[in-house]
Amino acid sequence: MSEHVLVINAGSSSLKYSLIDAGSGKAAGSGLVERIGEAEGRHLHRGPDGETSTDGKIDTHEDALRAALDAFETHGPSLDAVEVAAVGHRVVHGGSRFADPVLIDDELIDAVTALVPLAPLHNPANLEGMRVARRLFPELPQVAVFDTAFHQTLEPAAYTYAVPLAWRDDHDIRRYGFHGTSHAFVSAESARFLGRDPAGLNVIVLHLGNGCSAAAIRGGVSVDTSMGMTPLEGLVMGSRSGDLDPAIHAHLVRELGWTVEEVDHALNFDSGLKGLAGGNDFRELSTRVEAGDPVAQLAFDVYCHRIKKYVGAYYAVLGTVDAIVFTAGVGQNGADVRAASLGGLERLGIRIDAQRNDAAADGSRLVSADDSPVAVLVIPTNEEWQIAREALAVVGGS
Ligand code: ADP
Repeated sequence: MSEHVLVINAGSSSLKYSLIDAGSGKAAGSGLVERIGEAEGRHLHRGPDGETSTDGKIDTHEDALRAALDAFETHGPSLDAVEVAAVGHRVVHGGSRFADPVLIDDELIDAVTALVPLAPLHNPANLEGMRVARRLFPELPQVAVFDTAFHQTLEPAAYTYAVPLAWRDDHDIRRYGFHGTSHAFVSAESARFLGRDPAGLNVIVLHLGNGCSAAAIRGGVSVDTSMGMTPLEGLVMGSRSGDLDPAIHAHLVRELGWTVEEVDHALNFDSGLKGLAGGNDFRELSTRVEAGDPVAQLAFDVYCHRIKKYVGAYYAVLGTVDAIVFTAGVGQNGADVRAASLGGLERLGIRIDAQRNDAAADGSRLVSADDSPVAVLVIPTNEEWQIAREALAVVGGS
């Protein structure tokens, strides 16, 4: 019998949910509640009969989850009929403490609360999701799956920032890395796709969505990753700057009189592609590039240049590379990004096949030439499935 897990991803004003068949990875039902606490909220539910959308005020995360339960009841699939085995929660920051998924109890809630200073934008919403789901499903085991957990294998040389010891010892300032659920899923899938034992495979994964990160994975183990203490570091993202000279922060405060909150907000929400070209949607950017818009072209070039730098860096970290894997919205769909960021790397054994790369296709696929020593793959990520499998493993399912 298949086992289902209700996967919950609570954001500050949104709640995503998916009822995942942990065997197949298919979502029997899913939905998104947006603009929680605003004047007009929206709830989109996908069930066996397609999509339904409801507009109306949704005050709290508890109301959002109740709306989800009502939608399962009204539009299906019935949660009673599928027998949910567990609830799996995506939790962004697990600090140094959590290298594995954990059963949620009061102690776990306290531990995640203690990590709020490391992830003030994310952990409070994740905590709210956990509290609400525990109230509404008191009988179901609930599991926290941390975005940082997969990267807890980084060696000190990779995770330590060159800052005073007291910062590191007293304030937990170090690289943690994020998107771990996606990097774990995609690297394992790439081994399966290539018919190789994951233990013998060196992979660079490029997760390019709204948030973007690269990871160097040796034998299924993360050895380096581009996001740092927070998800701001590394690649250029939809609205996050990625790497920049830390002195820019001080410059903005000193010369422009900005507050720390203003700087933080600008780097997280007004930078990246949005800062470079006015918008964070990559499809629109690509259309503007094709139309010859120089502002969009520069944004595209900065984005791809940063990816190329990380590919080179992680090639050096790994020593040998078997596969480079693109995933998430831009990675899976942006043939132009794949071509530009890996162009000119033939001497590293990386040869994209233009026809394969440009072919419109879904699903896992090879986009490098047959004679390319490094395989270049597109592997659709499925974080919900990974969370469902990990949650089920914790509660003793198959
Ligand atoms: P997240 O899960 O981080 O919110 P996604 O993985 O859904 O993000 O990726 C969102 C990004 O993918 C957006 O920039 C979007 O424009 C881009 N994207 C989606 N479809 C395409 C496409 N067909 N071509 C290029 N970019 C795309």
